[in-house]
Amino acid sequence: MVSVSRRAFLNRSMAALGAAAFRYPVWAQTNTSAPSVSARLLLGVDYYPDQTSEARWEEDAQMMAETGFTNVRIAEFAWALMEPAEGKFDFAWLRRAVQTLHKHDISVILGTPSAAPPPWLAARYPEIVEVNAQGEPLHPGGRRFTCPTNQTYRRLSLSIATAMAHAFAEVPGVIGWQIDNELTLSPSPRCYCNFCQAGFQAWLHSKYGSLDNLNRNWGTVFWSQTYTEFTQIPVPLPSGGDPNPGLALDYDRYQSYANVSFLEEQLGMLRKACPRHFVTTNNVGPPVDYIDLRDLYKNLDFAALDNYPGFFEMLLHEQAKATDVSWDFINTTVALEHDFARGIKGGKPFMIMEEQSGKAGQRTFSPQPEKGQVRLWTFQAVAHGAMGVNYFRWDTATFGTEEYWHGILNHDRSWSPAYDEIKQTVKELKALGSEVLHSQYPAETALVFDYDCDWALQIQPGHYALRYMDQITSWYGSITASHTGIDVVAPGADWTPYKVVFAPLAYVLSEAQGERIRSFVQKGGMFVSNFRLGVKTETSQIVRTPLPGPLHDVMGVTVADYVPIYSGRPAVRFSSVLSGPDAEVGIWMDVLQPSGAEVLGTYTSGAHAGQAAITMNSFGKGKAVYIGADLNAENLARVLRTLAAQAGVTQPLEVPSGVEVTVRAAGNKQWMFLLNHTPALQTVNIRRPSTDLLTGEAHNETIDLSAYAVRVLQAG
Ligand SMILES: [Zn+2]
Repeated sequence: MVSVSRRAFLNRSMAALGAAAFRYPVWAQTNTSAPSVSARLLLGVDYYPDQTSEARWEEDAQMMAETGFTNVRIAEFAWALMEPAEGKFDFAWLRRAVQTLHKHDISVILGTPSAAPPPWLAARYPEIVEVNAQGEPLHPGGRRFTCPTNQTYRRLSLSIATAMAHAFAEVPGVIGWQIDNELTLSPSPRCYCNFCQAGFQAWLHSKYGSLDNLNRNWGTVFWSQTYTEFTQIPVPLPSGGDPNPGLALDYDRYQSYANVSFLEEQLGMLRKACPRHFVTTNNVGPPVDYIDLRDLYKNLDFAALDNYPGFFEMLLHEQAKATDVSWDFINTTVALEHDFARGIKGGKPFMIMEEQSGKAGQRTFSPQPEKGQVRLWTFQAVAHGAMGVNYFRWDTATFGTEEYWHGILNHDRSWSPAYDEIKQTVKELKALGSEVLHSQYPAETALVFDYDCDWALQIQPGHYALRYMDQITSWYGSITASHTGIDVVAPGADWTPYKVVFAPLAYVLSEAQGERIRSFVQKGGMFVSNFRLGVKTETSQIVRTPLPGPLHDVMGVTVADYVPIYSGRPAVRFSSVLSGPDAEVGIWMDVLQPSGAEVLGTYTSGAHAGQAAITMNSFGKGKAVYIGADLNAENLARVLRTLAAQAGVTQPLEVPSGVEVTVRAAGNKQWMFLLNHTPALQTVNIRRPSTDLLTGEAHNETIDLSAYAVRVLQAG
C-alpha cells in the first residue's frame, strides 16, 4: 500500500488542468524468453494471512472464491514470521495458507518481504538504515527505512527471497512473484549514506573511466571542486552552496540504478529457482519519479501499478488546504499513470496490483468512494491497457499503521459498501475475457517522458514554479481532452508509429536524441516542443551553441532570449492556423528568431513585443513546432489540438466534459470504453450502432451514461 508520503510528489504536481489507425506493439516481440503470464485472468485481492487468525483462512478463501477472485498477493510484509531469527526459516504457515487458497482455486502471487526488515535484523545490523537528504539516519519502526546499496541488507534480502523461492517453486497454486513493495515510495526516497557514497564513486568510475573525464564532464574547475581521487567525491548532502549540477544529476541516476540493481539480484535468483513463475514488482508511476521505472521493469514480465484515486484526492486537499480539488485533474493524472504504465514495456498490458476498494489512508483517510466509482476506476485502468486488477485489501486490519486502510471486509468482517460492485466488476471483466484484457491500445500520438529532464529541472528549475511534472500533466491533459489515443514514451522509444510526438521541457538533450528528433521530422512526423529545448547536455552542462542547440535547423529558429517571468505578464497574439484570442504568458518565455520557420504567435507587449513566440518549421517531410511561451491550460489545449488536427490525428468521439473515451483493439476487433467520471447523467452520440458488451444492450446513435457509468461498446 501507498505510504502517506505520496504527498511528496504532489508538491510537484499541482498543474492546472483543464479511434484511430492501429499500430501493432513492440512488446509482443520482446521478452520472448520470459515465462508467460498465467493463462488465467488476474482478478484478485491483496490478502494478509499473516495478520489473520488461521481459523479464518478457510472461510476467507471460500468467500474470495464466491466473489469470483482468481488470485491473491500475499506475504510481502511477513519477513518476521518467515525468518524469526537470522537463517531460521519458517514457511510452514505460509504453505498452509497457500494450500487453503489453492483448494478454493485461488492462485497466489508471493511478495518478497524486503520492504520491511524485522527488528532482529535492524538491531543486529544497524548500518542498514537509510540516511536522508539532510544527512540524518532513519530509524527502524516503520518500513522502507533501508539503504539500497548496503551489502548486508542486500545479502539478507536475497537470502529470505531465495529461501522462499526454493520453498515455493513447486507448490501448487503459486503462479508468480512481486519483488519488494513500492521501492523508494517513502518520505525519504533517496539514501545519502556512506555505502551509497562508495557505491556512487564506483558507479562513476565505471561510467567515466577516469577522473580527468569526470572532472571535464562536470566542470569541476568551478568552485575548486577538481577531484584527484574517486574517494573524494561527495554525495549531494547540504553544503555551503548547491552541488555541481552534473554530480547532482548523476546522483539521481545512481540512486535509481541502486534500487534497480537491488531488485535485479532477487530477480536473477527467481528466474533460476522458479522458471515457471512470472515476476513483477508494484510501484506508482509519475508524478512519483525516484526510479526510472523503464529500467526497473526492463527484465520483469509486466508492469504493475498501485492505484488510489480517492486517496489522491485526499492528499490534494491536505496539500492545498483546499476544498475544491478538481476531479478532472485527478482523473487525468490517473489516466496519465495508466498510459505511462502501458508504455513502460512498449505497450504491453499491465496489472493494477493494488486498486482502491474503500476508505484509504494512514493517519487520515479518504471517504468511501461514491457508488460506482470503484468499478469506474477499475474499468479506467482496463480502458488504458490493464490486463489484471487486484483490490487492496481483503479485510481491514484492526491493528498497525494501516488500520484506516479499508478493504472489502470491514473491521467487523461485514461486507464493505463496495462489495457488490467489486463482485459485479470481476464478473464483467471475466465475461470480457482475455481477448479484451490482453488487447492493444492504438495511439497516433506520443508524449515523451524523460527522467533526465525531470531530475535536471528539479536541480535547477530556472524559475521556482517551473516543474517538469506540471508541464507533462498539463500537456497530457490538453492532448487527451480530445480523447485521441496517446502513448507515454521514453525519449529513445521507436517513434515511427506516431503522427505527432509532443516533448515539453526537453531540457536535457543528448546528441543521439537530437538525431532521433531530426530523423522523425525528416521522415514526415510532427515534433512539438516548447521553451528550454535542448539547453543541456547529458552531463548537465549548457550547450555552447545558440539554443535550441543541435536542433536549430530542425526547428527553424534560434532563441534570441530566454526569460523567467515574475511580474508584468506579456501577451501572445496567435496567427495563421492558431488564430484565436490573445493569451497571457505564464512563467516563462523563449523569444524566437525565425530562420525559415513560419510564425504562429507573436509577443504583443513588454520588451519583446513584435518578436516570435510560436513557430512551425517545415523540415524534410515533416514539421517542427516551437512553443516559446508558457500558455495556460485553455490556450495550450487549443494549440495542441489544432496542431494534432493539422497532422491528421483523428478523434474518436465528441463527448461531454467529464466523460472519457478510449479504444482497445486486437486484430480487426476494437472495443470502445465510455467512462462517466461525473455524478450526473451524460449523453454521448456514438455515431454508429453498437452493442454494450456489459449489458448486451444495442444502441443506435446516442447512449445515456448514468453517474459513474461504464460502457464497453463493440460496433454492430
Ligand atoms: Zn545508502
